[in-house]
Amino acid sequence: MQNFYIPQEYQTYSPKTTEKNSRTGNDVMIFLDSHLHLQNKRIMPRSAEIVSKAVKRGVVKMICNATSERDWQDVLDLAKEHNAVYPFLGIHPWYGDTVEKKWLDRLTTTVQKNSVGIGEIGLDRVCKTDFLQQEKIFLAQLELARQQRCPVAIHCVKAWGRLVEILSDFQSHIPAIMIHGFAGSRETMERLTRMGIFISFSTQLAHPARKKLRDVFLQTPLDRILLETDSPNQFCAELAKLSAAEKQTALMKKTKVNEPAVIPALYHYGAALRGIKLDDFTKSLWKNGKIFTN
Ligand SMILES: [Zn+2]
Repeated sequence: MQNFYIPQEYQTYSPKTTEKNSRTGNDVMIFLDSHLHLQNKRIMPRSAEIVSKAVKRGVVKMICNATSERDWQDVLDLAKEHNAVYPFLGIHPWYGDTVEKKWLDRLTTTVQKNSVGIGEIGLDRVCKTDFLQQEKIFLAQLELARQQRCPVAIHCVKAWGRLVEILSDFQSHIPAIMIHGFAGSRETMERLTRMGIFISFSTQLAHPARKKLRDVFLQTPLDRILLETDSPNQFCAELAKLSAAEKQTALMKKTKVNEPAVIPALYHYGAALRGIKLDDFTKSLWKNGKIFTN
């Protein structure tokens, strides 16, 4: 079997070249990080520096997802502070049993007042939250997205059958849906993309052990692919090495903190895996991601 890990093009990748190209003429190379958590306390104090470093590398759109009611305001503040940050608000299944009375009323009012997406929401059979409670909260938030015409970012762990069932009722009524950090099978990817749902791959794509994930990525239609860092999670040493100055890499390695500045390296990696030009790949993904940030 072909060894996909570190294709030749990727080995010669220099983020500096990309930066230089992105400043020449009209052909600006711009990237979108489709999922991250800048409000996470591991990176929130450094968020201004992290965002500006990413923007300098051409990462001009970052979709920042809340996880519980407690971080909605932080996500909104980050979006207000930085043009590149797009806020998604919601209750993550991990925090589905911490919701307080009338949470849905407050989410509805906040969504009506601000231009936001709904996320990160979903189903997770591995976490401690009661599954029926997860479903209840998930369905209520999908219903809100339907009513308010909001794009949606979904987390799913080992609940693919139920997820596909639920989304088949909603997908035609919601402007855009992405599955973030996709780790499902090829069959699931096919069922989801046939419904028009977008598949977002994280930095795990470049992890040496994730060959199955790379196989699914290669089968995913180009017009349904997104790429994300899920910062500060999903730290990938290989990508960090290629996308930061030596001193920064050392810091990232020590703290295992992922940053949106590594996204250009992941785009390059993805384009090289598929054997297509970085420029064409980036343009396609920009088009896919734009639907979530309108
Ligand atoms: Zn996330």
